[in-house]
Amino acid sequence: MGREAVAAGLRELAARGFSSMGYVGEQRMFRGTLASPRGPLSVAILIQDWDFLEYPTIIVTDGMKKFPQLRPHLDLHGGLCYFARRSVVLDRYDAGTAVAQCLEQAQAVLGKILDDRNYVVHDIQNEFLVHWDRAEPRAMPFYLVGVAPQARSARIHFDQAGNLALLSDNAEEAQALASCMGWGQLSEAMNRCWLFRSDKFPPVPDRFPAAVEEFFSWLRQWDQRLSHAIQHHFATDAAYEYERLVMAVHMPAGWIGVMFAPRPPGKLTCGQMKAYLHGRGSSTPIQRLAVTDVSSEFVHSRNLSFKNLTGKRITLVGCGAIGSQLAPALVRLGAGQGQQGLLRLVDEEDLMAENLGRHYLGYNRLGQPKARALRDEIERQFPLAKLEDLSKAVQDLRLDVMRDDLLIDATGDQAVSEFLNGQWLDAKRPLPVLYVWIKGNGECVQSLWCAGQEDACFHCLRVPDAEVYRKDRHPVLKRAPELKRLGCHAFTPYAVSSGLQAAALATDIICDWLQGRMSPRFRTRCRENVDVHHVASTDLPPLSGCLACTPR
Ligand SMILES: [Zn+2]
Repeated sequence: MGREAVAAGLRELAARGFSSMGYVGEQRMFRGTLASPRGPLSVAILIQDWDFLEYPTIIVTDGMKKFPQLRPHLDLHGGLCYFARRSVVLDRYDAGTAVAQCLEQAQAVLGKILDDRNYVVHDIQNEFLVHWDRAEPRAMPFYLVGVAPQARSARIHFDQAGNLALLSDNAEEAQALASCMGWGQLSEAMNRCWLFRSDKFPPVPDRFPAAVEEFFSWLRQWDQRLSHAIQHHFATDAAYEYERLVMAVHMPAGWIGVMFAPRPPGKLTCGQMKAYLHGRGSSTPIQRLAVTDVSSEFVHSRNLSFKNLTGKRITLVGCGAIGSQLAPALVRLGAGQGQQGLLRLVDEEDLMAENLGRHYLGYNRLGQPKARALRDEIERQFPLAKLEDLSKAVQDLRLDVMRDDLLIDATGDQAVSEFLNGQWLDAKRPLPVLYVWIKGNGECVQSLWCAGQEDACFHCLRVPDAEVYRKDRHPVLKRAPELKRLGCHAFTPYAVSSGLQAAALATDIICDWLQGRMSPRFRTRCRENVDVHHVASTDLPPLSGCLACTPR
């Protein structure tokens, strides 16, 4: 930013009555006033970046008492968020206009916070949880792990320091997740967390309730039914033997919670406790809880508009360049979750140095069986997923994989695919099978979805040929792939991207399956800079006279 442009910015500030106060660290500070519906407001503007990648900082330095306590965009120390990050590009060649733009926007935002109750309410309601969790004093983090949809209470588990809590009725799951997140050993609280539900957004108060009586009155304003349900609990639940009362409410914006510790003079019955909380105990302080849903139900469906893989039994054959990338994607889609859910990983090989350049696993797994190592690595990240590993050849697979919901062949090994195809036809096509492979040196990736008699089987993909015995029914490659040889072992070089691409193709098909549309069943995805025949993705009919699938 040239000196000339900066000078234009300085002139603009001076014209608006701002005077330079020198430097605060690297930032140049100016003080002045902005007009507001409640009179002039003293502000400071601090500018460090005259390229305006970072917006100037604007701070209200006097008159904070005029603002509502619970408000959007203006923090405890007067810091104002007037443009959302990157929402506006300020002109680095015209600092005068840029500075004017910032001050005018700041003035408009401050005016609305002061005088436009609808704006304040709407803004807070939109980001209710952010305000609830972050307003001072900060809310205590509570993680919700496994709670049945209509459960009325859940067990509380604290970490050793008592600063973090997990809500779950499954102690084993809670501990597995806590260990995964590095919390160490959990201890179970004496009392349970009550759970309530409301289909209404909470009203926006001037400040969040800080004592029991404010909380009760806020509840009455919010939702009469919710308020009654909570009061009813105080009158009937025997939870008062315990030190702390904890409750969480689910509402359209998500979960919020509160915790408080009444200190009545002696032991009270339920009815007496309710009276105490409305009387002498009404000033008992409450602690807000920031309840975050980390349950697998939430995590694995948050980004989907359709049902995920929860409850499905899936066998993935091949944990190499394709399968090792596909397995974690399936788990992210919910594989291995739910009562019946299972992801079975099959591969007979160990992880070798030559695999590392295009595999999901790294040096820490070198020499280990691929299936076992992949399972361990996924379980380290997703301890609640149910996985199984089989380090055996595909010929030794028991037929119970044919009773699953989906069989995926990601070996990219034509002989293995032919074998599985034969097994599947012998078993009378009991489940859908997805084949996915990399063509040649990674020119393209292809897949075939086989479910019923009207679909081509894997053997239908090739036709007899006088010169090469069998050739592709729809050839895509123009020339034979480059092979590399190591002793009597040959392999086809392709980069890590091909495995990723094939895994992505398979994941897309599985998402389509979850939405009930499998077409096109035979798919081809090419890289951009390759010279290949165009092969359209289509529903391929069986090949007439196919030796594998034609009824005899
Ligand atoms: Zn066939």
